[in-house]
Amino acid sequence: MPPGTGGSPVGGLLCTQLGGCVPPPAAWVPLPWALLDSGVSPSLLVWLVGLARIWSPQRSHGSLWHQSEAVALQAIRNAKGNGQCVDCEAPNPTWASLNLGALICIECSGIHRNLGTHLSRVRSLDLDDWPGELTQVLAAIGNHMANSVWESCTQGRIKPTPNATREERESWIRAKYEQRAFVPPLPLPSGNLEDSMSELLLTAVTERDLLRLLLLLAHSTKDQVNTQPAGSSSFPRTALHAACQLGDVVMTQLLVWYGIDVKAKDNQGQTPMMIARKTGSKGCIDILLQHGCSNEASPTTATPILSRRSSTASLGRSSSKKRVS
Ligand SMILES: [Zn+2]
Repeated sequence: MPPGTGGSPVGGLLCTQLGGCVPPPAAWVPLPWALLDSGVSPSLLVWLVGLARIWSPQRSHGSLWHQSEAVALQAIRNAKGNGQCVDCEAPNPTWASLNLGALICIECSGIHRNLGTHLSRVRSLDLDDWPGELTQVLAAIGNHMANSVWESCTQGRIKPTPNATREERESWIRAKYEQRAFVPPLPLPSGNLEDSMSELLLTAVTERDLLRLLLLLAHSTKDQVNTQPAGSSSFPRTALHAACQLGDVVMTQLLVWYGIDVKAKDNQGQTPMMIARKTGSKGCIDILLQHGCSNEASPTTATPILSRRSSTASLGRSSSKKRVS
């Protein structure tokens, strides 16, 4: 069996058919993206990788696991607005942008990948695995809510159609997510946004206002997310502490993707991980473990400081980290 094919005979088939032009994958997940960029027919790719998923030992979790994932993916497809691509309105999109919480068509997915993971984390509904934290984010947001943030103020600019050229799509998508040209202004009183963003994020989480949280994050840089309130040398807790206290997996995941400090301590010396363990939120614990936190068991000496240090896998706009999880 060829090396690096994940133990699947289809891995060898793909490598043979492509004449060895695809780098050996460490796992199945990254492979489809490389193949799409190599010009392989999407329908052929879906068929081949579908076979690989059936044979791969990584997916032999039993029928209940498959049923659970299938139900979760159907919940994503059923979310409001998810019948059409969030960018060009092509029907039945089969790709997702995790951090945007939206479904996109295969044509737009290529452009999203080129934006970089600091703006859009692309994943296939059909080809990739879907752990529970990710399906919860996609099911909670959906295209309607996403566009109420990212496409709220188009100022007469015409959205691309499913038949749009690549240039037309790219122009729209870059204006929408890179330049944030269509995001509505924040309804804020006078004041420095950078000084108050961490407080606004905390309020949005405490009030479980997901739409407001998305709007704030769309306006944020990683530094703003982690800035202490004006005139303060400490902060009682961050939005991530609050999300873990509530056991809110969706908000926890979004905050981590946007670069909030996962190791900041509140005025009791507690990290978000300590709070998540106290509240018993397995989803929040799993997210924090995936993003550089250790499994602390108890509080340490109080150091009420909101550090500016970023997490290891953030979506902060000043970060160039590229890791999908
Ligand atoms: Zn599209």
